[in-house]
Amino acid sequence: MDLAVIGAGVAGCALAAALRQRGWAGSLTLLEIGRGPGGRTATRRSRRDPGLALNHGAPLFNITAQPEPRLLAPLRRGGWIAPFSGAMHSLDGAGQLGAALPDPLSSGTLWQGQPQMDDLCRGLLTLAQQPAPVRLHSSTLVRTLEPLSDGQGWRLLGGEGQALLECRWLVLSGTLLAHPRCQAVFGWPEVPLQQAAAQRGEPQLLEAASALAAIDAQASSNLLLSLSETSAAAWRQQPWRLLQFSPAAQERWGIRRVSLQAMASGRWGVVVESSAAFAERHRQVYGSRSSAAQLLGAAPQPQAEASVIAALDHAVQDALGLSTAGAERQLMRWGAAFPQSPGLAPELSLCPASRIGFCGDAIAGLGFGRVEGALRSAEALAEQLLHRLPAGA
Ligand SMILES: Cc1cc2nc3c(=O)[nH]c(=O)nc-3n(C[C@H](O)[C@H](O)[C@H](O)COP(=O)(O)OP(=O)(O)OC[C@H]3O[C@@H](n4cnc5c(N)ncnc54)[C@H](O)[C@@H]3O)c2cc1C
Repeated sequence: MDLAVIGAGVAGCALAAALRQRGWAGSLTLLEIGRGPGGRTATRRSRRDPGLALNHGAPLFNITAQPEPRLLAPLRRGGWIAPFSGAMHSLDGAGQLGAALPDPLSSGTLWQGQPQMDDLCRGLLTLAQQPAPVRLHSSTLVRTLEPLSDGQGWRLLGGEGQALLECRWLVLSGTLLAHPRCQAVFGWPEVPLQQAAAQRGEPQLLEAASALAAIDAQASSNLLLSLSETSAAAWRQQPWRLLQFSPAAQERWGIRRVSLQAMASGRWGVVVESSAAFAERHRQVYGSRSSAAQLLGAAPQPQAEASVIAALDHAVQDALGLSTAGAERQLMRWGAAFPQSPGLAPELSLCPASRIGFCGDAIAGLGFGRVEGALRSAEALAEQLLHRLPAGA
């Protein structure tokens, strides 16, 4: 491969689309742990239940400055994104509904994937198929990065130590391989990027690897509820589709936001996003039905999971006075939902001597910690890579 991209969230998919938009036709493969593209803008789906589609990460995104990312216009034209159509309200500590509160996730213009959030990444991957195709290997964990002996590229190995591919250039669009949380969560003995940087021994890469390892992130424990048309009746009468909790309400109920989402065949989904403090208290408890947990072989912990589900379920009923009886319940724990400042300095986002680059919402700059930052960092990296990558067919 001329280029391999680890991760098919917004940044990985946007990098592929931005390179193609600029006419680059080299060979490009994306590798993704999840069952499909999306990352933190993914939509939970189920083979057993084809109607289920819950946006369990970001329920929308916002663009706060001009010029907007160049990829936005073709996404809009292709019908992959649309203006956010739901009303936004807030809840205060006394349980009173009020107007939406200004916060970093709701300023500027608001967008949603169309019809679901993962269509944002699907749209980006569709845009990336011209002038040359892009391949996506889903359900594929990259576990180890090995510098090639000629110093001109990388070999990627999977969870069993098997060779996945060799590439001339490599981009990491997520921070899993760069951050010590992979040691805490999966018991890995080393941080893969740090090990690779030490093997390569190149100063800029060593600096980037330690900066990425130092980025803290807020977690989010999300309760996913799937309601039948009948059980959703009272929910649908609410004036909001996205409800922000004020700081006092977050403290009282441990909830940051609730979104109400229409699904196929009259069913409705409710996604309850925990406060940062709640997620921190339950950081070790993940949702066993997430594909990443399954692929990484995380040990099951059914009782702990059930108690986190019960706590959020009780809190949302108490806060809103609405019943969740009859709902199907799942937990999705995002260990690193929102990276915290300062992030990776943009000048470290490409290490040309090591042929490795970084993009994603953890790169410092406009949109940091949000979809906007993932898009902008990918477009900026594409500009830098364009003149360095082999031209392709
Ligand atoms: C609950 C929640 C609510 C949010 N709400 C909003 C919001 O309202 N507005 C907003 O703008 N943003 C919001 N965000 C943040 C937004 O989702 C992110 O900023 C954005 O999706 C980041 O995209 P990314 O491509 O940088 O990273 P990611 O989406 O994390 O993509 C990285 C990808 O790499 C994959 N990956 C990582 N390591 C490996 C590996 N070793 N092998 C294979 N694959 C790998 C991961 O599976 C992932 O798919 C929210 C996030 C969460 C979790």
